[in-house]
Amino acid sequence: MPGNTPEPTEVPERKITELPALIEGLPPKERTIAERIFDVSATTGRLDPPEGMEPWIERSFGSVDVVREQRIVKVTNLVTLEGTLFNELRASRPMDTGIGLDLEREIDETRGDPFCRPEEGTPADVFGRVRGEHSTTASNVAKYDGFHALVVFDEHNPLEFTPEKVSDYISVGLEWGRKALDADPEAPYLFLMWNCLWRAGSSIIHGHAQVTTTHRIHYPKVERLRRAATSYAAEHGSDYFADLHGVHASLGLAIPCPRGVQAFASLTPIKEKEILLLGQSLEDEPLHLAVARALQGYTRSLGVRTFNVAFYLPPIAPTGEDWSSFPNVVHLVDRGDPTNRTSDIGAMELYAASVVASDPFEVAGTFGEGLL
Ligand SMILES: [Zn+2]
Repeated sequence: MPGNTPEPTEVPERKITELPALIEGLPPKERTIAERIFDVSATTGRLDPPEGMEPWIERSFGSVDVVREQRIVKVTNLVTLEGTLFNELRASRPMDTGIGLDLEREIDETRGDPFCRPEEGTPADVFGRVRGEHSTTASNVAKYDGFHALVVFDEHNPLEFTPEKVSDYISVGLEWGRKALDADPEAPYLFLMWNCLWRAGSSIIHGHAQVTTTHRIHYPKVERLRRAATSYAAEHGSDYFADLHGVHASLGLAIPCPRGVQAFASLTPIKEKEILLLGQSLEDEPLHLAVARALQGYTRSLGVRTFNVAFYLPPIAPTGEDWSSFPNVVHLVDRGDPTNRTSDIGAMELYAASVVASDPFEVAGTFGEGLL
């Protein structure tokens, strides 16, 4: 009899295009926090292809129907005003995890470059160099800021790294920041970054990270995040970063981490496969290990070849602002196929919102064993 059998509660699939239903299905407390941080909406894009296009569409996307109606989910972080558009059609494309032999050859062909012998091939900073077990610093020739250095890895191939080496690069970057602070006590704002290969903005193939310090106010994107988190705490009486991680965890996007570190596949990735790590101090070995494991997951499981890593850090000396609840926020993002001539970032990403193909649920799923 109709009406006698209760409708089975439909459990939405764990994928980004089901995010509206997944948030609706959260327990009330988690749902409230999710909805005060994120605005989520779905729409359907429709088109009508001419018959002549159908073979090409089938080859490129599998079927004409998936192109005829495509579901798009828009996620806006209401606290930071970061936002991403996910298209099911783009997200459903298989992730390419192949290793390009041409890339290996191209990396090998540049062996013997100036970074292979940094003592002769690169300038030192006015305070000298910081030397680690696996890296040494060089002063950058054309500077972003008053102090700007490279952490030149001993290993030429930027895709060959171990947790021990990554930890060394981070420690050397921090030590360089302290030396730069001694030389210029007015510049306590340290920024550490790693651009891997040309598509990620690196002009030199040889593995290297970069460090800069700056005056008066942190770099605007870091300061904007601090201000957003401060406003959130004032409005809701709750820690923004804890809530941000909590929302991701409640949806199944958290990645298990060593003690003191949290990680998740972001709901508003700036570009493909973005992961965020939250740590307490740049001196913490567990944070170094988590960053290294995340990069190993990127390169080994997700087929990433070119990536950016960025460390949002509180200043390394006291300043006028309140940084007391600002963790170390580490961003990792995939910059796509290094053989692709089309940039992954256009006017949409620079000026409107990010358009992303990778599904954060799939990204989190590939890190099932965590960053331990
Ligand atoms: Zn080299």
